[in-house]
Amino acid sequence: MLNKLNPAQREAAKYLDGPLLVLAGAGSGKTGVITHKLAYLVRQCGYAPRNIAAITFTNKAAKEMRERVAKLLDTREAKELTISTFHSLGMHILREEAPLLGYKKAFSIFDSADCAKIISELLGSPDKQDIREAQSQISNWKAGFIDPAQATSLVETEADQRLALLYGRYQETLRAYQAVDFDDLIRLPVELFRTHSEALQRWQSRFLYLLIDEYQDTNDCQYQMTRLLAGHRAQFTAVGDDDQAIYAWRGASVENLHNLRNDYPRLKVIKLEQNYRSSQRILHSANAVIANNTKLFEKKLWSEHGLGDQVRVYAARDDENEAESVVLQLSAHKFEHKTKFSDYAILYRSNHLSREFEEQLRSQNIPYTVSGGTSFFERAEIKDIVAYLRLIANPDDDPAFIRAITTPKRGVGNATLEKLASHAGKRQISLFDAVFEAGLTEQLTARQHEDLLTFCNFIARMQSRAENEDCAPVMNDLLTAIDYEGWLFDSLEPRQAEVRWSNVSDFVAWINRKGEADGKSLIAMTQTIALMNLLESREQETDAVSLSTLHAAKGLEFGHVFLVGVEEGILPHRNSESPAQIEEERRLMYVGITRAQRSLQISHCARRRRGKEWEKCEPSRFIAELPQGDIQFAGLMPEGAAPAVTKEAGKAKLANLKALLAKG
Ligand code: ATP
Ligand code: MG
Repeated sequence: MLNKLNPAQREAAKYLDGPLLVLAGAGSGKTGVITHKLAYLVRQCGYAPRNIAAITFTNKAAKEMRERVAKLLDTREAKELTISTFHSLGMHILREEAPLLGYKKAFSIFDSADCAKIISELLGSPDKQDIREAQSQISNWKAGFIDPAQATSLVETEADQRLALLYGRYQETLRAYQAVDFDDLIRLPVELFRTHSEALQRWQSRFLYLLIDEYQDTNDCQYQMTRLLAGHRAQFTAVGDDDQAIYAWRGASVENLHNLRNDYPRLKVIKLEQNYRSSQRILHSANAVIANNTKLFEKKLWSEHGLGDQVRVYAARDDENEAESVVLQLSAHKFEHKTKFSDYAILYRSNHLSREFEEQLRSQNIPYTVSGGTSFFERAEIKDIVAYLRLIANPDDDPAFIRAITTPKRGVGNATLEKLASHAGKRQISLFDAVFEAGLTEQLTARQHEDLLTFCNFIARMQSRAENEDCAPVMNDLLTAIDYEGWLFDSLEPRQAEVRWSNVSDFVAWINRKGEADGKSLIAMTQTIALMNLLESREQETDAVSLSTLHAAKGLEFGHVFLVGVEEGILPHRNSESPAQIEEERRLMYVGITRAQRSLQISHCARRRRGKEWEKCEPSRFIAELPQGDIQFAGLMPEGAAPAVTKEAGKAKLANLKALLAKG
């Protein structure tokens, strides 16, 4: 089973004498070690699959790992393994332990937009900047395990005092809705483990071995969760690469690699040095760029692969020309090499850069998937349907109640809803419960009350079905009963309605399929859906080109990579100014380069449209850091029809750039 691994990898897979850290560069087989170790633990060491948990960074990575393990084990064994993200593991724990924390098991999970709405209401302001700041401060407090009372005593300025109060009211609101936010999914299990030792023991004896991928990007909460779960036994394997730490902005701390050493004096460290992913020139490029960062850990990375093609640095005239040329090259390459669309990835620093490429791909009829962007689950039509599911699962979810009862419109007006809300507020109960209270009847006309009752009775009926029946018939009846399709076509342009309805149909088909595969009820699926929102869009199911942000591309590999928009102001991002921030941007560049197996093109534009204006763009400083012997320059000059840049011109340009940079 382990005979495909090299000696260092095999040592890591077999090591069971205590905590283990595998510290190694990109493409050295860290994730592979985890996959093989899962199989090894089950087959050779007698671990029951349900006693092992592997933690990945994205749902997509979890899915891929499960598929790989399934090839080494039988399907039943692979199914019983816990392979999930920190957030879904947290959700899983909370679902079972919710009552201990005063939550019901079918709690709702609010995404960032739901939470922003609550904050906006509490602030009494729609100002996006204010909301974002409040949200991020609250999130920081939560990540640091600071509760509202502590926050109030910690803050100094009056503005922060107000924020701390807001934090308290925000928490109360979530609790009233029986809802948690994404931070809570990890914070609450940690709190539970700290305060309920019997619960901690239950989970410690549930998971006897832990494996954690992408360890460099864990935050404090995740670190605590791992520590608590591992307990004194400390049987775990963490794998990571400090050069790929790219989530500092979300509170991740590469320090956690160091902390492991302090917290576990007998920590064993294994380094892997052979890269199996990329051809030599790509690897040289990655190494040369990252060499400009200060080193945390010394790492060598070498490869037995051939030199491979030169890395192309392509200068495009403008953003449209960049997209056009990338898509053209991609199609030509695919035609020539008889590859699949899924062998190609177009990677960029910021979400908005995908638009131009999407347009070009669509016009060429090339299938593609976008990850790391606006998720499928954030579309209005999907959120409408999910609101129903959320309400069915958790009638205390007031935001879902409001969305569901008003979409499609069913004659319940604002006046009715205001009376309902005020009654519920006075009585401190949910909107749903308030409908059934005698006190409310007096305030409404018989007709108004009747409408509310009809709606709530319908939800209650669906609820008992959602618990007991398969997803498919319940979903179908739900859509028919609310006539969502009819409402779309009544209220929108036919084309728009068609698109939305087809999204809804896709979504329903997906739920039905997934619910059946995982043996989950519609209620359980509702929490799963809420989680999908976190980092990724729907799973990729077809042969398609991947469009992805660099952040979302972590851990993945592609035959051929186009790294686009590599310009000052984009990568490094214009908001990243401090040396530490520039180093994080450089790690992003490193992550991008190291996704490529056989070919890599790095492109930049001479100018870009910003609104109606053209903005002049400079190639990224990271391009100047590439090893000259391994790169080839190509592309157009800004004036238009100028010939492709020669190697000499490219060199001169680079020298120029370096001189400019040296001048600062
Ligand atoms: P990243 O840092 O990007 O997450 P990684 O260290 O997790 O990379 P993997 O994704 O596990 O690396 O492996 C990279 C590639 O190398 C994969 O295609 C994998 O199949 C291959 N590989 C790993 N180990 C070996 C080996 N011993 N022999 C052959 N191929 C290997
Ligand atoms: Mg990996």
